[in-house]
Amino acid sequence: MILGEPAFSVQPNRQALRDDSRFLCFDAGRVLLADAAGGAPAIPTFAQVRPLPDGIAPFELAHTDRFALFCPHPFHGGQVPERAGLRYYPLHVFRSMPYAEAGLMVSCWHLWAWYERNRFCGRCAHPLVPDEAERALRCEGCGLVVYPAIAPAVIVAITRGDSILLARSARSAFRHHTLISGYVEVGETLEHAVRREVMEEVGLRLGALRYLGDQPWGVSGSQMFAFQAEAQEGDIRLQESELCEAGWFRRDELEPRGRTVSIALELIERFRTGTL
Ligand SMILES: [Zn+2]
Repeated sequence: MILGEPAFSVQPNRQALRDDSRFLCFDAGRVLLADAAGGAPAIPTFAQVRPLPDGIAPFELAHTDRFALFCPHPFHGGQVPERAGLRYYPLHVFRSMPYAEAGLMVSCWHLWAWYERNRFCGRCAHPLVPDEAERALRCEGCGLVVYPAIAPAVIVAITRGDSILLARSARSAFRHHTLISGYVEVGETLEHAVRREVMEEVGLRLGALRYLGDQPWGVSGSQMFAFQAEAQEGDIRLQESELCEAGWFRRDELEPRGRTVSIALELIERFRTGTL
């Protein structure tokens, strides 16, 4: 295990909405959070969000053993406006939040984005309705059941002795140096995906792969499977459509990352401190 285990479930739990329930509103890549004095913003309680504007029906997204978490019904529309103490933040604000809360929020975003893309049946075009017993959508026209999609992805710490390969994406909004990663293709094993991505993006062959752990990464609706491998001899050959920069960084050149909420930064930090 690389980072903490999730301490919540997304299965329907039929809890009543209460003042101490949490209430998350998403809007085009943003999330409504409560200002916290001197710290990172927090997932608001329902008491901080109510009264809901007309037309917004609460919808249960997740629960912990302490509270249930609701959002506006994803198929009914409507938006909770900002007000004193409540502001919409870009989704990447999760990087400044405590790990457990960030994980809960990003997984709720994963579900929310899935609902947004699945209003109608892909087989018969009937509207889909949320199932009451499990986290799924059901077509009342043809009976199709649609489950939340999770895209498997791999991420790899490529090392060469006392150095690690870091790259910057040519496309991602996250512009920092990070590790090579990519989606697993249909019919592929995780190991094959690692070797293919590394060959495509930086033209390197790898020695034996070591599996390190995984992390749900709801930002992109994926599950990240992490590996480490030593690069074999050869020069970096950059795939410029994917990466704008890649290079070797010695352990003593790396900046301390402190607290991390992503498996990528956690692996870099562990390499820096000699604990990878
Ligand atoms: Zn259907």
